Amino acid sequence: MTKKVTAAGDHTLSRCSKCKESTNHTIVAMVGDRVARVECNVCGSIHNHRSTTAPKPRSTSPRTPAQPRKTRSQTQWVDIMATADQTRAIPYHLKTPVKTGYLINHPSFGMGKILSTTRPNKMEVIFEQGVKLLLCNVAD
Ligand SMILES: [Zn+2]
Repeated sequence: MTKKVTAAGDHTLSRCSKCKESTNHTIVAMVGDRVARVECNVCGSIHNHRSTTAPKPRSTSPRTPAQPRKTRSQTQWVDIMATADQTRAIPYHLKTPVKTGYLINHPSFGMGKILSTTRPNKMEVIFEQGVKLLLCNVAD
């Protein structure tokens, strides 16, 4: 098995001071079996070879931690629905008198729970998609 000998004209990774990162370089000159001078394939500058074994430059786009797929209200909704008796949900209708704590079944948003009501006709309902302000008939 023949060991590949690095020689001028070969390509190697080197730290480029202009590009400020490790880029592909063409070897320009060798000193013994060490790479001496290299030409950056990106910017074309010729400089002394700098090994890329040094700590890698910090990525300019640090990976952001994975966001939880569910929002807080979605988690809350799941918790509510886990304990709620959905068979008691009432169909959502403007005229149906409602109170805080009622489960309602909305034609578009699905199952929801009334978090609060504001007289005479507003209520905050938590749905799977989030909390929504809906018109309603607040019961006395
Ligand atoms: Zn360069």
